[in-house]
Amino acid sequence: MYDIAIIGAGIAGSYIARELTRYKLDVVLLDGENDVGNQITMANSAIVHGGYDAPSYKFKGRFNAPGNIMYEKICEDLDVPFKQCGSLVVAHNEYEMATLHELYQNGLKNGVPGMRIIFKEEVHQMEPNLNPDVCGALYSPTAGVVSPFELCVHAAENAVDNGVTLKLNHLVTDIKKLDDSFKITTTAGDIEAKKIINAAGVYADDIYEMVGEPYFELLARKGNYFIFDKEAGSLVNKVIFPCPSKKGKGILVAPTVHGNLLIGPDAEPVDKGDVSTTSERLDYIKENALKNVPSIPMNKIIRSYAGLRNTPVKASFTTTDGDFILEESPVKGFINVAGYESPGLTSIPAVAHYVVEEIVVPMFPDIEENHEYNPKVRKHLRFEEMSDAEKEAIIKEDPKYGKVICRCETITEGEIIDVIHRSAGARTVKAVKKRSRAGMGRCQGGFCSPRVVEILARELNCTLEDIMYDQQNSAYILSGKTKSAAEEVL
Ligand SMILES: Cc1cc2nc3c(=O)[nH]c(=O)nc-3n(C[C@H](O)[C@H](O)[C@H](O)COP(=O)(O)OP(=O)(O)OC[C@H]3O[C@@H](n4cnc5c(N)ncnc54)[C@H](O)[C@@H]3O)c2cc1C
Repeated sequence: MYDIAIIGAGIAGSYIARELTRYKLDVVLLDGENDVGNQITMANSAIVHGGYDAPSYKFKGRFNAPGNIMYEKICEDLDVPFKQCGSLVVAHNEYEMATLHELYQNGLKNGVPGMRIIFKEEVHQMEPNLNPDVCGALYSPTAGVVSPFELCVHAAENAVDNGVTLKLNHLVTDIKKLDDSFKITTTAGDIEAKKIINAAGVYADDIYEMVGEPYFELLARKGNYFIFDKEAGSLVNKVIFPCPSKKGKGILVAPTVHGNLLIGPDAEPVDKGDVSTTSERLDYIKENALKNVPSIPMNKIIRSYAGLRNTPVKASFTTTDGDFILEESPVKGFINVAGYESPGLTSIPAVAHYVVEEIVVPMFPDIEENHEYNPKVRKHLRFEEMSDAEKEAIIKEDPKYGKVICRCETITEGEIIDVIHRSAGARTVKAVKKRSRAGMGRCQGGFCSPRVVEILARELNCTLEDIMYDQQNSAYILSGKTKSAAEEVL
């Protein structure tokens, strides 16, 4: 029997799993997908927010700024790309300037360091490509951009290296409360654990209802995005937000941590699981992004995608409306980390600390610290970022680092093999893409995907037909040899 089962290996579950390894606990991290971080954590704005938006009485206001402050250290430990580029909330008139002052005051209450209200000249000096109508901005220097899926994968990897058991392809279908434990039924067998942490993203309400009476409900709200070629990546230096409205933060324009440009998201209520993009919604995004940055080169778009917010529409009994739900539920020993929408990515280091220290540790009176806990992952070798001398040395040691597989992003065979064989290693083409960036470039995997399939099959000792693009049973790439297919037709 495990001490704790965490349901959901997105950023919440993976990071909490890592945080739990500071203690001697037997932890299992379960996910229904064939990779970690494959749902909300895969498709969001990737912004490490300053923390001036949410009121200080909410968890969202309380944990955003402290989470932001922890990012530099955790990204160093987990070897995750992070750029503290700063953000601007821009105003076009006096009415919006008044909103900036409110955000500034709220930021002060939340402990956001270094914010300033700046005026026309300085704004346009900082961002020459902004709409000339912009008359002022709230500048937040601590905001930044990160790679959310690398953060999640590396947190899961570090959790596994510190002793967590990761079980993918374990979709939870039922939970029974026993006297002092829970029996969790999954599509790959039963698991027993003394406590449960429910971090199942947009499905967290369904998971809770397997064991308790409903007391919160989550609404899926889709956000669409465009990502642009690196040629457009330097159009803005900072994350550009419009003035927020009651509907949310609005359509942002941002550099990505890997040098692309990102615009989005809108907000549309949808069924859970619907991450399709539509031209109507995408047109809305283009139109609104152009209001702040009129010269966005729409011919440089390389991909569109959508992510699902998990918005709580019925408040929990201890937290306020629309806030993170972080609590032991009415079912004793069952902890909900739910309604975990933006700024969930930013807040996670601080939230994980809170969940572990304030909720989990008191549940285990004899808990002992794990003195062997190592916060660092083994460094990821990134060929493109190496000096010529380093490149020469690594190729000498392993010639596979001299073979470029993804030409757009200059990713070598050595790097792809490494991400397959790490703890929480890649098993699909998309999992390789998330970890190494092979397929993230201009051609979106047009050239390298067949080579990635071959490398995966060879390294995992399976057939080419076994390799999937993404989710279990959803996207096999190859069905057989062309010659045999032709023979079948004849
Ligand atoms: C459009 C959008 C933009 C955002 N932008 C930002 C931003 O810029 N900055 C920021 O700080 N935050 C942002 N967020 C919020 C942030 O992305 C989320 O808070 C965070 O990713 C949620 O992570 P999670 O682990 O709770 O959920 P998920 O990543 O969805 O993880 C939940 C996991 O549970 C698994 N699961 C579900 N059901 C089951 C089951 N029955 N059995 C087993 N496993 C199951 C899923 O497979 C999944 O892997 C944004 C969110 C969205 C949607």
